[in-house]
This record gives sequence, structure tokens and C-alpha cells, in this order.
Amino acid sequence: MKFGTKAVHAGVEPDPTTGAIMTPIYQTSTYVQAAPGVHKGYEYSRTGNPTRNALENAIAELENGKFGACFGSGLAATDCVLKMLKPGDEIISTNDLYGGSYRLFTKIYEGFGLKFHFVPMGDASAVRAKVNANTKLIWVETPTNPMMNVIDIKAMAEVAKEAGAMLVVDNTFATPALQQPLDLGADMVMHSVTKYLGGHSDVVMGALVTRDEKIAERMYFIQNSSGAVCGPMDSFLVLRGLKTLNIRMKQHCENGKIIANWLKDHPKVSKVYWPGFETHPNHEVAKKQMNGFGGMVSFTLKENTVEAATKVLSATHLFSLAESLGGVESLIGHPATMTHAAIPKEEREKTGVVDSLIRLSIGIEDADDLIADLSKALG
Ligand SMILES: *Cc1c(COP(=O)(O)O)cnc(C)c1O
Repeated sequence: MKFGTKAVHAGVEPDPTTGAIMTPIYQTSTYVQAAPGVHKGYEYSRTGNPTRNALENAIAELENGKFGACFGSGLAATDCVLKMLKPGDEIISTNDLYGGSYRLFTKIYEGFGLKFHFVPMGDASAVRAKVNANTKLIWVETPTNPMMNVIDIKAMAEVAKEAGAMLVVDNTFATPALQQPLDLGADMVMHSVTKYLGGHSDVVMGALVTRDEKIAERMYFIQNSSGAVCGPMDSFLVLRGLKTLNIRMKQHCENGKIIANWLKDHPKVSKVYWPGFETHPNHEVAKKQMNGFGGMVSFTLKENTVEAATKVLSATHLFSLAESLGGVESLIGHPATMTHAAIPKEEREKTGVVDSLIRLSIGIEDADDLIADLSKALG
């Protein structure tokens, strides 16, 4: 079955009691048992809830996986992966990492005895150089935020296999519509469902997907034991969001392409970061492992100051100034003072997050209107 069809039908069965075509919101904490231990598959909603389960199955199916688990946020999903490790274990992670993941790794889990190595993953040999007998996890995020670097998932899967480590890919930016990491050799996929999977900026949620039964057993055990689950109402909203994932991503990609190309020729713009350009350093990898280049575009100004960026950021109307991404509406953000404010200037500039860097999450509006908005703000 093709992806567009799967997006509409995945995980959803007519409700067994009423035939309702849409999965009802099972807003319940517990389930009545006929006799002790005699029940219909549900005992308590932390352990399992029909609305959440429908969503978990849907996301698993879209990622070509077998087992899905949903959490209260993307970071709660990441937290579950880290709980599979034990003190002394080592993790190799991309250096250009979502700030919240970096904080969780270094400020929480280093304190519990995990050791993290942050390396640029453009070159597999740099990753291999950090592998040792304690290496248990390789953490990849691609494309990265906000520099849009693309990491070769297949190459990382080879390194992980040699190391006997688990490969987990944060697939938040690409979504399964554009990239399916399990097919490329990853053991697990992580999502901030908050972003494109939900797609409407109205839910905070995370997800994990795997094909591996042993990993799944551990994942469900931790999900139930630690209890960072999402609620049935939010699960319902995301089930609804998934149905349009394929067409939304097509429109995000189309608008991304138009706007990246328009920015490239703008006299006030210095550099544009978008993996669809042939000149992008990882363009070949992106072309090989992705079905489209997404709707995230970053750019810098010739006048490389916070003030120049602030002028643009305060002058757009359709692009709202806000954190987050992946919704139907366009957002504009300033990594240096927003998402990456906690990183010292010298450190962030090493990865390209300079003072004038502006990040766009391009929505599904008409591209002409988005360009008119940016044109006015830049002018
Ligand atoms: C937002 C985000 C996260 C964290 O997800 P939350 O739902 O905010 O907890 C992780 N990775 C990436 C790439 C993100 O954009």
C-alpha cells in the first residue's frame, strides 16, 4: 500500500461496540472486569487505552515498524530510550542536536552515569573513532535544527551494527512521509509528534517505533513503569492529523522549495540552508534517503547582527514569531536568542548559528502570500 493511502487508514478499525468509523476518545482511566483478571484487554489507561493504542499502531505502520508507543512529549519518548541504558554505557550523538535533547542528555543523564560523545556525523569515520566496548547507542537527528545538515542513516546503521549498539533516529523534521529510518537500518525511530505528525500546533506528544520485539518489550515496560503517557483526547487529535500528513508534507515541500529559491536571490540574504539545493554539502545523501526536502529553511542576512534579524522577525504578519515547527501555519524564529540562547555565542557560531540566522517553518499557505510577507519584512 502506498504512503498516502496508509496515512488515511493506518491503525484505525471501526469501533467494535458501535461501528463508529473514527476511533472514539476513550476518556477513561479504568475498565470494568467481569471477574478478577477477566477483561477485554484493558485494565488501566497508563498501561493501555484504545484511543492511544490506535494512534500507536498508526504511527508504527507509517514508519514501517511493528511496535509503537506514544508519550506525553518528544522528550518523554527520548527519556524512555535513555532508560534502556545503564551507568557506564556510552552514547554517540550528533553535535548539531535539538537543544532539549542536549539538555536531557547532559544535565540529567550524565548525572546518572551515562557518557555522551557529540560528534559531527557527516563523516562515518569520526563516529567510528568514538566507538568502544561501552558504546550502546548511536543517536541521529536528520535533517538537523536549524542548520539542515543531513546525516547518512545507512552509514550510521553500519557503524551501529559493527559496534553492537542501537541506532535511534529522531525523525521529527522529515516524518515518515519523507524518510523511513527503519528501512535504512535504524533500530528505532523517535518523534516529537508535537510537530508535523500532529501538524496543527495544538498537541505536545512524542512517539517511538521499532520492529525489534526485544526493544519493544523494554519500551512498553518503561512506558508503563515510568508513566509518561499521553491522553486520549490528544491521541484523537493526532489520529486526525495523520490523515492529512501526506498532503501536508507535499505542500510543505513545495512551499519550501519556492521560498528557499526566492531567498537565495534576495539582495539582503547571505546564505540559505535547505537540503534541496545541489550546492548543499549533503544534497546527494538527502536525495538518496528522502522523498522530499521538507518545509524547514534557515537563512542569514548580509548584515549579520541581532538587530537586523530582529527587524525582519518583528515585521512579518503571516509568519508568526514563535518556537516550534511543523504546523499548517508558517512560523519564524531566531535561534541565537530563542532555541539556542543557552549556548555561548562562540560555541553556537561554530555550528553556524550566527546572530542573523533566521529559521522558517514554512506552512501550507499559498506561497505567493508567504513571499509577499517575507518581501515586505526584508525590504
Ligand atoms: C521539538 C523537538 C523535540 C522535542 O519534542 P517535544 O515534543 O517538544 O518534547 C525533539 N527533537 C526535535 C528535532 C524537535 O524538533
